[in-house]
Amino acid sequence: MKRVVPRVTGRSLHSDTDESPGWGPAGHRPAGVAGPALRAVGLTRVYGEDESLVWAVDGVDLDVPAGQTLAVTGPSGCGKSTLLQLLGGLDRPTEGEVWLGGRRIDHLGERALARLRRRSVGFVFQAYHLMHELSAAQNVELPALLAGASPRAARRRAAELLQQVGLAGRARHLPSELSGGQRQRVAVARALANDPLVVLADEPTGNLDSAATRDILRLFDELRAAGQTLVMVTHDERVAATADRVVSMRDGTLADDTRLDGDGRGTRHGHGGGTGLGALLRWED
Ligand code: ADP
Ligand code: MG
Repeated sequence: MKRVVPRVTGRSLHSDTDESPGWGPAGHRPAGVAGPALRAVGLTRVYGEDESLVWAVDGVDLDVPAGQTLAVTGPSGCGKSTLLQLLGGLDRPTEGEVWLGGRRIDHLGERALARLRRRSVGFVFQAYHLMHELSAAQNVELPALLAGASPRAARRRAAELLQQVGLAGRARHLPSELSGGQRQRVAVARALANDPLVVLADEPTGNLDSAATRDILRLFDELRAAGQTLVMVTHDERVAATADRVVSMRDGTLADDTRLDGDGRGTRHGHGGGTGLGALLRWED
């Protein structure tokens, strides 16, 4: 998508489970009141210059309560990956704010941001992004080591996580010796190495066949049962249907916001016509 000025501001889709309207970037957080795990306020990312300006993310307001599984859907180029990168501190907004665990992160310095990403955010990418020369176990150990864990603690944690993702027997294998589904399970284990506040997954099943997709979804289900906050970008209707909530993006803004009841039917909180996940996932109308 490409658009030139004048710009349009995205719709506000604050979570209706947020019981703390008084807490926020403009005010102070009252003691004992829990805010969302993730919050975006007027989040905007513009690429390019002059005639070629692209509002990849355009005034997004979003709260993700702790423990929620949120799926972000929408057509290619609508800004999903950019949004995820902004939420995880991999990219910086042109305008607006990102709050993670009650702390504003978008204006942190590089080092502080890198430290925060390492400790508080677990990323899972479509292309796995494992270190090719390291074994599965070493890949999972790495974030813990970088965060200052002892080699022994990192090894123990990696063994535990690989067990959890069903790959205890593959710990010494290189990524090239694993299937796509197994690689992605290693990547999920790696994302969890430092007990992150949020796991952010960009098309985590995009390269996987349906059996491997089911494995990843089963894992995500376990994470959700364990109370892990999870935001995943997906094109896949089956994947989106496993989330607690689905927001759809269009041209950098949030176009719809739906709570799912566990069997793919939803309650809409946003604008637009149609009902339920079926309507929600009919992007190109
Ligand atoms: P999605 O993940 O939904 O496919 P992206 O977030 O990757 O969308 O991209 C949103 C828009 O921003 C697209 O128009 C894309 O071309 C543009 N874009 C993304 N990254 C860059 C970049 N680094 N430089 C310039 N434009 C970019
Ligand atoms: Mg993308």
